[in-house]
Amino acid sequence: MQAWVIGNWKQNPATNSAVNALLDDLLTKVNTEEQANLQASKNRCKLMVAPSCVHLSTVSTRLAGSSILCAAQDVSTYSASTGAYTGDCSAQQVADAGATWTLLGHSERRQYHKESHECLISKLSHAFSQNLGVVFCIGETQEQYDNGQTLDVINEQLSVIKDLLTQQPDLALSLSENLLIAYEPVWAIGTGKVPTVAEVSETHQYIKQTVASFADTTDTITVLYGGSVNADNANSFASDAMIDGALVGGASLKADSFLAIADAF
Ligand code: 13P
Repeated sequence: MQAWVIGNWKQNPATNSAVNALLDDLLTKVNTEEQANLQASKNRCKLMVAPSCVHLSTVSTRLAGSSILCAAQDVSTYSASTGAYTGDCSAQQVADAGATWTLLGHSERRQYHKESHECLISKLSHAFSQNLGVVFCIGETQEQYDNGQTLDVINEQLSVIKDLLTQQPDLALSLSENLLIAYEPVWAIGTGKVPTVAEVSETHQYIKQTVASFADTTDTITVLYGGSVNADNANSFASDAMIDGALVGGASLKADSFLAIADAF
């Protein structure tokens, strides 16, 4: 299965010049690596970065022609195109700004913006209607983990996909190409704490089985792990067959650590 390593830049960097400096570094190092890989006939995983929407155009313009894809971090729940929704960016707008994918349902959106089941169904539907791929983020809190509720929480969060497919069965046909699931335990995000590889593996297996049960397909869904992934621990996650890549926060803000993680997969 094609591995993915995705950088979620969150609300970083602060300025346009810092965004450009990060891109300078990333593009130089990716080009050098690709030359070396070509000579060694080595394949690299797919790379994608998700800048804030204010930087989308800059980033997508500079990444055009490179192998790095560009994603939005969110889309409006209210309209796929235009409307009186102050502060929102629609799926059409982020696609026009150069995003080909979007993150949805990140735990920071769920926590700070109270994103509900219905809101997420609407966002997924809008994203797919504008031909955006979706990286759908799920994961349990510390308390839920401590209470052994991880799989129940995952099941509930994945029911968004199930309900969307009930409303729009045709989406099932291309689901494995247009949807990536990112399993990100909330307690592992930005904390330096990580679950064991065996725990992640078991959860990913459950996610794959659950999504397969929604759609009449034998295609397997791609499942990435996210939460305190860094250049030191990436190899251990990459060694497990159930872990198809990583969604990286902090370590994606430096080209060196982001590409070291990519090299692991
Ligand atoms: P960190 O890699 O900083 O823990 O963040 C993970 C994350 O939230 C990616 O979406």
